[in-house]
Amino acid sequence: VKHAGRNHMAFYSDELTAQARNRVLLEGRLRTALKQDKLECYYQPQIDIGSGKLIGAEVLLRWHDTELGFISPTVFIPLAESCGLIHELGLWVLQHSCQQFSRWLEQGITPFSLAVNVSAHQFSKDQLFDELTQVLADNAMPAHYLELEVTESALMIDEAKVVATMRQIKALGVRLAIDDFGTGYSSLSYLKRLPLDILKIDRRFIEHIPQANDDMQIASAIIALAHTMNFKVLAEGVETAEQLAFLRQQGCDYYQGYYFSKPLPATEFINLLQQQPNS
Ligand code: C2E
Ligand code: CA
Ligand code: CA
Ligand code: CA
Repeated sequence: VKHAGRNHMAFYSDELTAQARNRVLLEGRLRTALKQDKLECYYQPQIDIGSGKLIGAEVLLRWHDTELGFISPTVFIPLAESCGLIHELGLWVLQHSCQQFSRWLEQGITPFSLAVNVSAHQFSKDQLFDELTQVLADNAMPAHYLELEVTESALMIDEAKVVATMRQIKALGVRLAIDDFGTGYSSLSYLKRLPLDILKIDRRFIEHIPQANDDMQIASAIIALAHTMNFKVLAEGVETAEQLAFLRQQGCDYYQGYYFSKPLPATEFINLLQQQPNS
């Protein structure tokens, strides 16, 4: 038994080493991909429930490695966060998507809101605000087209600092959304202190509608809460007509999800935008 235990330990530590090696390998490849512009921004439409119009797009990062294949952002974003690469990666996404957006504006597309994810880690450094003003200036991009999506976890790092940075960003005219609302651990009191515009209801509260009564109660409570605070509310991960009907009935403002469209490469997104009525 002792023997088996030791073997088990040996096996376990081999596995750890393999994991660590894997991480180092992946980190290196991610650095290279970033340097060589091998990452790609996809765009997922955001729809106004009342009018059915496309009013925005969330930028979602994609990485296709020539050898390893497609790697999910749920893998490489946490990796980038733990090795510090997230600052560079986050700036790349901002620069790249704002540049793309201003080219579209020049081409005369109907403007929409561009929602970019910002990691909590990016708030822990001082340069976020300066980088943001620089990116907007470089691309002559009007700030009111840009929206930043931030998770509650940003508040856990250094709330006072995050609040101060958010106020600066807000003063530029950039809008702020709380992402994955309802999944963090912070108290709701931050809703009064942050200059927010939008709450995004996490997909996990939407996916089991209409079967799960408790999720429906939670979703409708979040919608009411958002409106009490004068925020708009967007439901994520809407996949069915029933889910959309429920959200409409509850007065939810916007949605995104496979029901309307998956995240799309830039050209496909623009094709879709141009097929919209009055665009
Ligand atoms: P998120 O910000 O909550 O993004 C929403 C995720 O849900 C995206 O996954 C999107 O593709 C997926 N999704 C959208 N509609 C549906 C639907 O109807 N059904 C289902 N099942 N899924 C749907 P994705 O693209 O894999 O991204 C995962 C997470 O990675 C994002 O979650 C975000 O936290 C992070 N991420 C992606 N791009 C960036 C980025 O540029 N910066 C940062 N900091 N994080 C990013
Ligand atoms: Ca998001
Ligand atoms: Ca989300
Ligand atoms: Ca999420």
